[in-house]
Amino acid sequence: MSDFVALLGVKGGPAIRPGSNMPTSILLSLAGKKILVDAGLGVSKSVCDQGVALTAIDAILVTHMHSDHYLELGPLLHTAWTAGLNRPVPVYGPPRLAQYWRAFLTSMEDDIALRIEDEGRPDLARLVELLAIPETGPINLGGITVHALENAHPPVRPSYAFRFEARDKRIVLSGDTAPIQAMAEFARGADLLVHEAMLIEGVDALMAHMTNGDDRLRIHILRSHTDAEDAGRIATEAGVKHLALNHFVPDGIPGFSESHWEAAVRRTWDGPLTLGRDGLRIAL
Ligand SMILES: [Zn+2]
Ligand SMILES: [Zn+2]
Repeated sequence: MSDFVALLGVKGGPAIRPGSNMPTSILLSLAGKKILVDAGLGVSKSVCDQGVALTAIDAILVTHMHSDHYLELGPLLHTAWTAGLNRPVPVYGPPRLAQYWRAFLTSMEDDIALRIEDEGRPDLARLVELLAIPETGPINLGGITVHALENAHPPVRPSYAFRFEARDKRIVLSGDTAPIQAMAEFARGADLLVHEAMLIEGVDALMAHMTNGDDRLRIHILRSHTDAEDAGRIATEAGVKHLALNHFVPDGIPGFSESHWEAAVRRTWDGPLTLGRDGLRIAL
């Protein structure tokens, strides 16, 4: 299978609604490896929809501890296990992700013990290794080098962007972040930059759909995400070869179509552009 980046879920934020995309996950097929970045709701089905077995995932990286990026991590790993997983899977993420994983195992301990005893399965806890993203130095995934950049997603810390380098390919994923100068450096000359994007004018429309939050959510969104126009500016400054947008805020709210996103990003970016949608595969 040739190299690709599949945008499995492109919606920003955890809520889904009729007509919306699904929360965030991205599958990379690179240098013979399958790497999953983030595990938002729907990820297990979306990996299979790409024709990729859950047991074929070589490594998982989680950008930060917001549920739209890891809510389905436990169910994904558990389902890979019941689908025949028989080799270790490293999971890299913020240090607290290990606590989530332990608690997930506890929540499923009856089922897991039963399947070990009654079906002869290996111990799931031993198959999954939770690793903190190192503060310095890249992660080596056998033919793929992954550099992490701590981005700006207050109040969540740490929160990461990742750059994948394999042979002659460089792919940068922004993660959830406010616009930062360091991203342009980090993405310099990349073959593909997948950057998160919001439409500021859409945030007020989104707030009208919130029935259990207050203005703090609006303030959080505006200070911790990147306007589509700024995403284009960063791509231009970095001189990337292709810009794709994901983590759309708003998503699934009436009144905002692809033309709104395109108009915003075209103010600052005139190169190849992909507006992400669930399941969209970008060939590398
Ligand atoms: Zn998010
Ligand atoms: Zn976030």
